[in-house]
Amino acid sequence: MYEVQGVLLAAGASRRMGRDKLTLSLAGLTPLERSLNALCAAGIQRVVITVSESTRALAAKLSARSPVPICVVEGGATRQQSVLIALRKMPNARIAAIHDAARCLVSPGLIRLSVAAAREKGSGVVAVPVRDTLRREPDFAILPREGVWATQTPQTFHYDSILSAYEEAERDGFSATDDCAVYQYIGHTPHFIPGELMNQKLTYEEDLCLFEAMCSTPRMGYGEDTHRLAQGRRLVLGGVEIPFHMGLFGHSDADALTHAIIDALLGAACLGDIGRMFPDTDPAYEGICSLRLLERAAGAVREKGYRITNIDATVVAQQPKLHPYLGKMQESLAASMEIAPDRVSVKATTPEELGPEGRTEGITVRCVALLE
Ligand code: MG
Repeated sequence: MYEVQGVLLAAGASRRMGRDKLTLSLAGLTPLERSLNALCAAGIQRVVITVSESTRALAAKLSARSPVPICVVEGGATRQQSVLIALRKMPNARIAAIHDAARCLVSPGLIRLSVAAAREKGSGVVAVPVRDTLRREPDFAILPREGVWATQTPQTFHYDSILSAYEEAERDGFSATDDCAVYQYIGHTPHFIPGELMNQKLTYEEDLCLFEAMCSTPRMGYGEDTHRLAQGRRLVLGGVEIPFHMGLFGHSDADALTHAIIDALLGAACLGDIGRMFPDTDPAYEGICSLRLLERAAGAVREKGYRITNIDATVVAQQPKLHPYLGKMQESLAASMEIAPDRVSVKATTPEELGPEGRTEGITVRCVALLE
């Protein structure tokens, strides 16, 4: 029963961040959830989460829907005390993997390697060689870097050894900042395994944008629209009216460029398509400026938690010449989506008089959108 168990440390005060870093959203998931997911994906069979006032509610919520049994306990005043409290709540464990929840980019593969090392060698402590030049205050003298390693987590051990190490350290009043030091304190030699560059600890406010970028997964969408050219209609593309003796025919202003962009955005966010969001049987959309529809589609995309990275559209038209208007289209489209103009590219191509577009019977637009 639950031979391999995990300790997930989420009882820290986040003093260097100034607010609880484990409960904020990183590309839609909290750091605590990301760390827990990694432990579960690595095959950890049961997890004890140590919590503080500010992480308790989130931990309880996550435990209710976790694929493995979770035990939520109040942490101690120090990291070391929290680990001991958690280790005492792990009946029948043979292997204990201890992980700081703030290292939320840890890969399941690294956790698995740490567990495998602990099984085979008694311990698997994740560490990386120091890359930076080290100096010590107050004279900023250089410290030798050769052979210097920085330890990360997970740090995984035979359960009985790490529990007795922590018990003994507690009795003796020995304090340390990581589990490996406590393990060494009772005479064990730790086995190290190489860590991952990605396995950073979320510490400072300015770390957030880097972590966000590392967590976000891009989503691509594709949109295409064709409208017929007809006499007596205005020609509107990308919200810009273009002088021509014909215009695009349709229920709204028939702005095929804006429609293709809407479809690409909705596709990327998996929000259906333009016909479903704005049915052409609805009189509310008759003759409407399609930029208003784009504003609403971009709003729906934002509401789902996505940011528009960029748009690239190509208008296929034999006539009229569109190049003089492309810059203006780009600006009005960007304004409607509330993004910078350099995130919207609008190009035009002539189809060499081939096909319906080549015979000036209609205009087609193809577009891709990338969301993060
Ligand atoms: Mg259309």
